[in-house]
Amino acid sequence: MGMSFLNFFSSDVGIDLGTANTLIYVKGKGIVVNEPSIIALEDNSDKIIAVGNEARQMLGRTHQQITTIRPLKDGVIADFEATEIMIRELIRKANINRMMIGKIVVCVPSGVTEVEKRAVRDSAERAGAREVNLVAEAMAAAIGVGLEIDAPVGNMIVDIGGGTSEIAVISLYGIVNHTSIRVGGDEMNLAIIQHFKKKFNLLIGEKTAEDIKCNIGSAYPLEEEQKVEVKGRDLVDGIPKTIEIDSSEIRAALNDSIASIVDAIKLSLERTPPELASDILDRGIILSGGGALLKNLDIRLREDTSMAIHVADDPLTCVARGCGKILDNPERYEKVLLHHRRSI
Ligand code: ADP
Ligand code: MG
Repeated sequence: MGMSFLNFFSSDVGIDLGTANTLIYVKGKGIVVNEPSIIALEDNSDKIIAVGNEARQMLGRTHQQITTIRPLKDGVIADFEATEIMIRELIRKANINRMMIGKIVVCVPSGVTEVEKRAVRDSAERAGAREVNLVAEAMAAAIGVGLEIDAPVGNMIVDIGGGTSEIAVISLYGIVNHTSIRVGGDEMNLAIIQHFKKKFNLLIGEKTAEDIKCNIGSAYPLEEEQKVEVKGRDLVDGIPKTIEIDSSEIRAALNDSIASIVDAIKLSLERTPPELASDILDRGIILSGGGALLKNLDIRLREDTSMAIHVADDPLTCVARGCGKILDNPERYEKVLLHHRRSI
């Protein structure tokens, strides 16, 4: 069977390899997988128990013989082997025949090292890719949002993910400057856990903290503050209990994380050449990533930076949709790929 024949039937695949969620885009089909970046392994045998959604259900609920792993933590690949397993298993969930995979475009955080890039590339090859291209996450997000990255105009994108917040200034297919901080949704969850410990002597799990954040968390006063019941374990008598909590309380807990993001945006603006900074002043800053969904984050950032702030449509899928556009128009986006092609 000739290569051209295979290419005709093969599926090109885009992967948003996020610290919190991994999305898989298949050319011609759209986003077919959108699951948490988590795997569960049996301790002694390393047998894969679950990947993605099923593994997330197990977070904090496993017994001693099962470990849940988040292969990407703090925006870096913490566990290469687990990353490879996750990529392979999620591609399997996408229902693409291994033999039929053509090109794979993988988005990686701009700060990844050469070793990490190599590992991602190798993992994608072993999953069946005949060609692997890497692209910076912020660039893919900008393309997904539909920013004019091909114009000599400055755009700022702030992508708030699980492990990191990435701030990038983009112009003419390139990243002019890039700031990454290890503060994102995970840090916010930890801040909520800490707050409950300190103020109420209540121990809550990560999943509970995340639910609270997504339901009533905010970065700026809400028009109507909300209340929610929180279940945890009392640290004094060890007994499970429920307390009622107000959204303003959660906002206070999140304040330091938000302040770090504000500082990083200011730092990034300071590093931006004046012409590009003036473009950003005209166009505003775009927020993407799951953290962009935090209530009133845009208002808070507007107030603290004096810049216009726009939350992207469907911020959790910007990167994957950007991958899709790259696959759909390979010639147009050739310049955004991080490395030269390496075909097998
Ligand atoms: P990554 O690219 O690192 O995988 P994502 O862009 O998928 O991250 O965003 C995941 C993060 O967004 C998680 O930390 C999650 O808690 C957070 N998130 C999702 N929805 C909301 C929400 N409504 N409010 C606040 N944070 C949210
Ligand atoms: Mg992301």
